[in-house]
Amino acid sequence: MNSASTTFPHIPGVRALHSPGPSNVPKAVLDAMTNQPMDMGDPRVDAFIAGCERGLRGLLKTKSAEVFLYAANGHGVWEALTVNVAAPGQKVLILGTGHFSDSWAVLTEAMGIEVVRTPYVEGFPIDPDVLEKALRADTKKEIVAVFAVHTDTASSTTSDIPALRRAIDAADHPALFVVDVVASLGATNFEMDAWGVNAVLGASQKGLMSPPGVGFCVADEKAMAVCEKNPAPRYYWDWRSRRSELSYRKFCGTPPQNLLMGMQAAFGLIEKEGLENVFARHRLLTGAVHAAVSAWAEEGNLQFLCQVPEARSVSVTTILVAPGIDPEKIRKVAREKFQVMIAGGLGPFSGRVFRIGHLGDLNSAMILGALGGVEAALESLGISVGSQGVRRAVQYLAEHS
Ligand SMILES: *Cc1c(COP(=O)(O)O)cnc(C)c1O
Repeated sequence: MNSASTTFPHIPGVRALHSPGPSNVPKAVLDAMTNQPMDMGDPRVDAFIAGCERGLRGLLKTKSAEVFLYAANGHGVWEALTVNVAAPGQKVLILGTGHFSDSWAVLTEAMGIEVVRTPYVEGFPIDPDVLEKALRADTKKEIVAVFAVHTDTASSTTSDIPALRRAIDAADHPALFVVDVVASLGATNFEMDAWGVNAVLGASQKGLMSPPGVGFCVADEKAMAVCEKNPAPRYYWDWRSRRSELSYRKFCGTPPQNLLMGMQAAFGLIEKEGLENVFARHRLLTGAVHAAVSAWAEEGNLQFLCQVPEARSVSVTTILVAPGIDPEKIRKVAREKFQVMIAGGLGPFSGRVFRIGHLGDLNSAMILGALGGVEAALESLGISVGSQGVRRAVQYLAEHS
């Protein structure tokens, strides 16, 4: 046994990736990554870094916020963002959205920062009134930042960011507004400037159709001012030293050149398709998934985890299974028998849900294939979901395309 090919059988055709990250990487992105790395002084390096910065500003709809790119995943940039805007002993408010807000809170506490949490109400997005109350209760204005996850990938719930901004304003609280867009950017609209978001963080491997490995923070003037005064000890993550024209400084060392070449190509694809068309395609494919899940749900064995239809994300759908059904079995059969890779439950959802990812480089045929594979897995396990799931997805696509 000396290679993966001797351990796993050869599978003809394409294995369908429907995890909500990493997502499919288009061939144009893979091709761009096959260029040789370059000498650090080559202006081409500066050009593809600038291309990524421009691409991110375009997606975030921000004119002048500053972009900081890291050789890191989402967890890395959680830490990067946090250490730049808060110091040990200070307080941040983290809004409960499920597994990802919890994980961010655990990381933030490990950094010596005090975390105030609002509870996650299973199946629901963030309630702006709960945010407003939490800020009003902070009469000494000790909370330095509010952290919100736009789309929580575990619960597949998207919260209303402009409504959260209004809640902060209604409480007349000076805290920075920070949003995690790891799972939403490139799949759904985001307007950093218009929505009054002071800083965001994200990563390459979900809606941005790139391999894992690049994270980013984007900060407006107010966030930069907080960063300048923030006494937290830091070096590698520090925005102050990364604010440079030199690529070596921007990355505090060698940039992940090939990943950035790929990411620039991904922005090119988004531009070619048109941002609004990218969003419309995500809504269309999500509609097909919802049509199938609604049909399956009629048999009583499965249901949407997110109870608020408008808050169901266009990136991923979390499906709750009835007690006695093991979602990990469904996942395994879907992958090993039907070549459809779906995701399982995280944190409090583990063993209770499976998730179908529908973000990034996907089209109708791919979604129908995934739904067919999942339905076949359910049927082969004897889990009754009727016969209308794929049929309704086909109808939905026929009517809405
Ligand atoms: C995936 C994800 C993360 C973590 O990203 P990693 O790259 O796995 O570290 C953080 N936040 C959200 C909302 C995510 O979906």
